[in-house]
Amino acid sequence: MTRLTVVGAGTMGHGIAQVGAIAGCDTVVTDARAEALDAALARVRANLEGAVQRGKLTADEAEAALGRITLVPDVETAARDADFVVEAIIEDLEAKRQLFSTLDDLVASDAVLATNTSSLSVTQIAGATKRPGRVLGMHFFNPVHIMKLVELVVHRGTDEATLGRAKHMVVQMGKHPVVVQDSPGFASSRLGVVLGLEAMRMVEAGVATAEDIDKAMELGYGHPMGPLKVSDLVGLDVRLAIADYLHRELKGAHYAAPEVLRRKVQAGELGKKTGKGFYEWPTKKPS
Ligand code: NAD
Repeated sequence: MTRLTVVGAGTMGHGIAQVGAIAGCDTVVTDARAEALDAALARVRANLEGAVQRGKLTADEAEAALGRITLVPDVETAARDADFVVEAIIEDLEAKRQLFSTLDDLVASDAVLATNTSSLSVTQIAGATKRPGRVLGMHFFNPVHIMKLVELVVHRGTDEATLGRAKHMVVQMGKHPVVVQDSPGFASSRLGVVLGLEAMRMVEAGVATAEDIDKAMELGYGHPMGPLKVSDLVGLDVRLAIADYLHRELKGAHYAAPEVLRRKVQAGELGKKTGKGFYEWPTKKPS
């Protein structure tokens, strides 16, 4: 049984832990904020209940998956026995480099260290360790338990065996891997963020409402969800961080964050997670 440790128990981390546990991994979840751990477990429990109701899992399978998840507040204990670590902390290069350096000292030398970064340099994250060959990007999509893609981001030094282990893990999780060379925003964020930023500029310029722009992409282009709704789901703070990074690295004006995005982030309107972004997201009352 693979011993998987997920560092960061937020929007992405809880979902990664869930799919890891369903795949049969002995899964440990840790977070710098202890309160994030209980919240993550509650979200996993709710998702699993939903999966049972929809007939995707039996009640026994859901219970077994939940039983494979352990919450551990300190990273030292959480990562010590891991074969495979997936990092899902804030989108900040220095924070990730620091964590990878710590993990490098903690886990066995043959353990794989994967980052769920949406855009940052996997090469630079790997460079914080003495095992760059065992480091790669594993870019999951939100919501993790629904979205089928995982972008595997390899840098020049990622070894074939590491890529093979990551592909195997992705398939075990019931998802499809694509392999992308390390470059800012990889394949998915680079294209997806530009679409989202342009849609925000159109809202700003009064070209159409957020709803109508999204509908244009959904009904006209067959996108399952319009770019503004996607941005709200991802989190506007996350999108802003990615846009700023792409703009710094790749320069093009189409990566520059529009004012409306900065204003919303400053006002704490971060999308679904705060109840408001380009849309209103009413919080569900507990039944
Ligand atoms: P989030 O803010 O929901 O969760 C991040 C969690 O990490 C928080 O609970 C925070 O307490 C914890 N954390 C921060 N620093 C830490 C540290 N040093 N050690 C341990 N825990 C720490 O963020 P998220 O949306 O889950 O994003 C996490 C990562 O996944 C980011 O790199 C982001 O770019 C990437 N990502 C996000 C999405 C998305 O749709 N939100 C999609 C793909 C990838």
